[in-house]
Amino acid sequence: GAFQLMGLSKPVFKGIMKKGYKVPTPIQRKTLPVVLSGKDCVAMARTGSGKTACFLIPMFEKLQEHSAKTGARALILSPTRELALQTLKFTKELGCFMNLRAAVILGGDSMDGQFYAIHENPDILIATPGRLAHLIVEMSLKLNNVKYVVFDEADRLFEMGFAEQMNSIMKCIPEERQTLLFSATLPKMLVNFARAGLNDPVLVRL
Ligand code: AMP
Repeated sequence: GAFQLMGLSKPVFKGIMKKGYKVPTPIQRKTLPVVLSGKDCVAMARTGSGKTACFLIPMFEKLQEHSAKTGARALILSPTRELALQTLKFTKELGCFMNLRAAVILGGDSMDGQFYAIHENPDILIATPGRLAHLIVEMSLKLNNVKYVVFDEADRLFEMGFAEQMNSIMKCIPEERQTLLFSATLPKMLVNFARAGLNDPVLVRL
């Protein structure tokens, strides 16, 4: 169950050590092996459990290095600006030994700024669904190379009324992908969404 035994690559492991993590949290111990194996996963985890590293660590392993040619290969959907910005900060800290680029796409930010962010060839997009759906239509943003998708705080994504945007975003992402859903609660609506959008997911709960 230790980070040393998870077969992580050197830059990923160094990032974990730099953050000062000694041992995985309970949700990390259960979720990381599943996600690192490439499986889809529904994890019941709340803020404070260490859930963010559960999807960032395998994402770094999957992406490895910056790629200027492909467009974004990972997408993280957050219900709020605050969470998206916090996830960007976390991505930069934990991934400080990785040669990867991340950009945020947020409702309320200027479209110009987002145009530049997208044209810097980010490997990772961290977005709120409303603005992302808008950019897909208005700026022909392509998600056709995305192969790693995270719905963070998925119950809140639904509570905030993003169901329609989430479905339309999913239609732009190839089916050959790894999809992860993190949520404190699992209402029926979310179970149905997971059934439709995830491929035989492993359910992890504490
Ligand atoms: P999260 O639930 O992802 O928002 O993380 C909550 C807090 O726990 C953050 O400050 C993380 O940096 C911290 N954290 C995550 N994993 C670990 C770990 N294995 N050991 C110590 N702290 C951690």
